[in-house]
Amino acid sequence: MTIHTVRALNDNYCYLISNAGVAAVVDPSEAAPISTALRERGLKLGLILNTHHHHDHVGGNLELAQEWDCPIYCSEADFSRVPGATRAMKDAESFEFAGLHFSVLAIPGHTAGQIAYHIGDALFVGDTVFEMGCGRLFEGTAQQMFDSLSRIQDLPSETRLYFGHEYTETNARFAAEVEPSNSAAIHRRLNQVRDDLRARGVASAPTLAEERLVNPFFRAPTLEDFTRLRTARNSFS
Ligand code: ZN
Ligand code: FE
Repeated sequence: MTIHTVRALNDNYCYLISNAGVAAVVDPSEAAPISTALRERGLKLGLILNTHHHHDHVGGNLELAQEWDCPIYCSEADFSRVPGATRAMKDAESFEFAGLHFSVLAIPGHTAGQIAYHIGDALFVGDTVFEMGCGRLFEGTAQQMFDSLSRIQDLPSETRLYFGHEYTETNARFAAEVEPSNSAAIHRRLNQVRDDLRARGVASAPTLAEERLVNPFFRAPTLEDFTRLRTARNSFS
């Protein structure tokens, strides 16, 4: 299995998961950069996976599905709102594609129907977690997001997190402000991301173990701590 990161719109990350010449795309914000990446790699698109219904995650659905005649999976809750959706996924449901085993993890909070896709060591978290940050609460409650972050943290520590956006710069400043005693680790991680972005144009996906060292939302022990941080982050820029 190969995971290739594609940047789209201002700061979105889309992912191609490929095996034996066939790819699934996670959250195609727009069709053009996905088509280019497929062509460059000589891959065929066989499946579209959406983590949630927001436009910047589904914008390329219809054009890509038409070009490649492929199905589109999303969560049950989002089914009516995801353009071209063909199959509704439930929590813990699994499926095979291109010889790979995928499973679904419900992680509501950013939206009510947000799901993650889990393949081997890779977890595609959409807008639930970002480098040193977490998603805004648009449809879910703080309790739901806190529980979703706990669910993610219960996975094996070598699990790699594939985020929906590149928000590292602002998140690192926030993380250092709320936890000054951890600023050395935060700056190491920030510099690593900057090096990745300069060298490859995309940040490398951190493991859960790495992310726990720097992400203030993973490090919030209680719901009250989490809620305070989430509120503070809303007014931080
Ligand atoms: Zn979103
Ligand atoms: Fe988004």
